[in-house]
Amino acid sequence: MIEDLAKELGAATACSRPVADIGWRPHHEHVGQTGVAVRPNLYIAAGISGAIQHLAGVNGSKVIVVINTDPEAPFFKAADYGIVGDAFEVVPKLVEAVKAFKANQA
Ligand SMILES: Cc1cc2nc3c(=O)[nH]c(=O)nc-3n(C[C@H](O)[C@H](O)[C@H](O)COP(=O)(O)OP(=O)(O)OC[C@H]3O[C@@H](n4cnc5c(N)ncnc54)[C@H](O)[C@@H]3O)c2cc1C
Repeated sequence: MIEDLAKELGAATACSRPVADIGWRPHHEHVGQTGVAVRPNLYIAAGISGAIQHLAGVNGSKVIVVINTDPEAPFFKAADYGIVGDAFEVVPKLVEAVKAFKANQA
């Protein structure tokens, strides 16, 4: 799902440390204090709580979008745009919206 969104946006994927620790994604994608620091134009955090150690790697981002089911998730305080919702519903809708936008540009 995240790979689909990244493909449509021409973006790279990244993850939090626990996601790399359990082997869902490679460690070179883990962002934060003990991982890499990124400075993209757009950082979309889907289902990431926003721990200080993670934020250390993303606060150079130009625009931060946070998708989280928990309206109290700390990441919302660092977000330019926030969506309170289930990433499994929101991300596929974003993919469709980006596809539709690109189709209208063609
Ligand atoms: C010394 C040290 C260094 C560390 N370095 C790093 C580091 O470099 N990078 C890093 O990332 N972490 C690092 N950590 C770990 C950090 O403290 C956090 O534990 C970690 O960032 C939490 O990862 P997470 O947000 O993926 O998971 P969680 O904290 O478990 O958060 C998951 C979030 O997903 C939300 N959620 C769940 N289901 C859905 C859904 N379906 N849709 C939308 N939202 C959903 C929840 O509400 C929650 O906010 C370090 C910790 C220590 C002690």
